[in-house]
Amino acid sequence: MDSRTVGILGGGQLGRMLVEAASRLNVKTVILDADNSPAKQISNSTEHIVGSFSNPDDIRKLAAKCDVLTVEIEHVDVPTLKSLRDEHPKLQISPSPETIELIQDKYRQKEFLIKNKIQVAESIAIPNPTDEALKAVVRKFGYPFMLKARTFAYDGRGNFVVKNESSIPDALEALKGSPLYAEKWAPFVKELSVMIVRSLDNRVYAYPVVETIHQNNVCHLCYCPARTPNSVRLKAALLAENAIKAFPGAGIFGVEMFLLDNGDLLINEIAPRPHNSGHYTIDACVTSQFEAHIRSILNLPMPKSFTNLTTTNTNAIMLNLLGDKDEPNGELKICERALQTPGASVYLYGKESRPGRKVGHINIVSSSIEECQRRLEYITGKVNKPVI
Ligand code: ATP
Ligand code: MG
Ligand code: MG
Repeated sequence: MDSRTVGILGGGQLGRMLVEAASRLNVKTVILDADNSPAKQISNSTEHIVGSFSNPDDIRKLAAKCDVLTVEIEHVDVPTLKSLRDEHPKLQISPSPETIELIQDKYRQKEFLIKNKIQVAESIAIPNPTDEALKAVVRKFGYPFMLKARTFAYDGRGNFVVKNESSIPDALEALKGSPLYAEKWAPFVKELSVMIVRSLDNRVYAYPVVETIHQNNVCHLCYCPARTPNSVRLKAALLAENAIKAFPGAGIFGVEMFLLDNGDLLINEIAPRPHNSGHYTIDACVTSQFEAHIRSILNLPMPKSFTNLTTTNTNAIMLNLLGDKDEPNGELKICERALQTPGASVYLYGKESRPGRKVGHINIVSSSIEECQRRLEYITGKVNKPVI
């Protein structure tokens, strides 16, 4: 479909699923990450780079083999991407380095969204993290509030819930060494998420609005569509589209938001890449988030009404598979039950199973969400009667 080579900074599960989507279109990919990373395991090439997406020399080695660069993680070395773009005007980098830079710093990301009139949880930068600085936050936000690392956060690592005065020293100790900001507590009734794809010619398309359920700060389940009135989903899609219109560059974006009990929506954060809450698109939508990303960064055709590709009558639940806490590979029992279940697909990432580590996911699709739920309950062992 396209003779250009796409370099991917990062070779985790998101990279692995990008490689799968690109391969179906005969699009060549080169991965920069550790040897035998999940994306490299499924793509046999001598051209992959062994190294790190935060190392300037390694990124340069990748760029030398590619026409287009993209990321599966936002924690990459942006200054190198900017210099490469200046040195090689023909090298296309999507999403744009400026977008990655803004999103990398969760506080700057929020400031940028506010400047663009997008509702976010209220935040205060904490340049000097002391007891007194956090007490000043309490005077503004009260308890509880969230203390967050501005950079290198994922799966809640980098967040601390400050519940009362006695947890202030623990919070400062837990996040010591990171640039910090404080965020007002969002008393949400649901967490919603929307995948948005932005084309090179700046059009944005929303996937269905989904509902995510987190356990210990890690996404556990994702329901498509979100179990809310249609009016809430329409508002969420519009908010996500408007937010992504503000960021330069093409590609897929995940927009996480909080739904409050008065119906207000606040953006939590944005990811400039495929997102865990978009895995359901592999089975529930005609075009997955991964293929949409490849198409958008290569400027491959999208139908005029992209919604026809993204919206189906299919209902879906995605279950994340975490490494079992009690026995090595214990999570594979869940996979066996999924394999017995109609409409369920198992995705394993080729990662060593460690307690709590994301090692795969299961997509369950059906014509109704109630049926998806029944299937989920068998898969997770809540009921023992298999679904036929
Ligand atoms: P990710 O893996 O999504 O990148 P992260 O480490 O960047 O996660 P956040 O998305 O900031 O972390 O927060 C993780 C979870 O913590 C959220 O999904 C939500 O459940 C909860 N949370 C975050 N901020 C707030 C807040 N201001 N009020 C209430 N809960 C919050
Ligand atoms: Mg995050
Ligand atoms: Mg998040």
